[in-house]
Amino acid sequence: MDATVRQPRAADLLAWYDRHRRVLPWRALPGEQADPYRVWASEIMLQQTTITAVKPYFERFMARFPTVDALAQAPSESVMQAWAGLGYYSRARNLHACAKVVAGQHGGRFPDTEEGLRELPGIGAYTAGAVAAIAFDRPAAAVDGNVERVMTRLFAIEEEMPGAKPLVRERVLALMPSRPGDFAQALMDLGATICTPRSPACGLCPWREPCRARIAGTQETYPRKAAKKTGKTRFGAAFVAMREDGAVLVRTRPAKGLLGGMVEVPGGEWRADYRLEEALRDAPLVAQWRRLIAPVRHVFTHFPLELTIFVAKLPLDAQAPEGMRFTPFARLREEAFPSVFLKALEAGLEGLQRH
Ligand code: SF4
Repeated sequence: MDATVRQPRAADLLAWYDRHRRVLPWRALPGEQADPYRVWASEIMLQQTTITAVKPYFERFMARFPTVDALAQAPSESVMQAWAGLGYYSRARNLHACAKVVAGQHGGRFPDTEEGLRELPGIGAYTAGAVAAIAFDRPAAAVDGNVERVMTRLFAIEEEMPGAKPLVRERVLALMPSRPGDFAQALMDLGATICTPRSPACGLCPWREPCRARIAGTQETYPRKAAKKTGKTRFGAAFVAMREDGAVLVRTRPAKGLLGGMVEVPGGEWRADYRLEEALRDAPLVAQWRRLIAPVRHVFTHFPLELTIFVAKLPLDAQAPEGMRFTPFARLREEAFPSVFLKALEAGLEGLQRH
């Protein structure tokens, strides 16, 4: 390493954080003690979801389940319903399972070490580090995408992610000051607001002097990443059937698997070799199905999906097939539809209105 470049100091980042820290609903104000329950719930919600999207959910979730005990005692349908729209539903199932363990085996108190937290359901290395640091001020590293970006740029780490993770962790721990909780949050804030993926605002960065990538002008090339493999597009159909009184046919997906326990409008399997001409075989009942021209598109982590929407109007005496039910129009918003089926439902309702 070039000896003429100054080494980054945690103190510079903390001084910046003290002036520019973001006010977030789950974050303690300066001098306040962080609530481990709120910190943990927010970290789970923020996995793969943006702060802007999480904020309103978090407030509603906390109003509905104000303590870990309240969450543990809630029926799983109401947890899934409160989660609906946040995506990645296994997180909601793990969240509920974790609350039950904390309430049942730890007297409603979260373990206060990284190791103890790691033993809880749904808590991986990142979340354990984040909760240990933020809620309990433990010197733990919480390395997420933001932190990886900042550290690989700061030290010009050439190794590709995710292989470079241990090195990034090492660097974070080596910098760790006497305020680990604030340091963890400061790194997150820096990555989210200054050291952004594109056009980082290096001029405003407290580490601009020691940052090796900035000196070399190569900021945006970090972190180094291996080429990404995305799955093949899958295709399928979704059937939006509305009874004369406005009730819509829905069903709950099996508890296990993708979007497990969430609510859907009926449809068939999603496959790369789906044959649209055979789609009506997946129709939940016999009706005058009409195909909408525009398909609904959705991107899951491992594959993009294209759903063809079929709509039908049903008579008032139509019976729901086994395992399905009619939800009155006014209560559709209460169903735990994940985003993909909300899109399908909205497209279907719009299509029904046009005829
Ligand atoms: S100087 Fe620029 S690239 Fe380096 S850490 Fe700061 S914002 Fe990121």
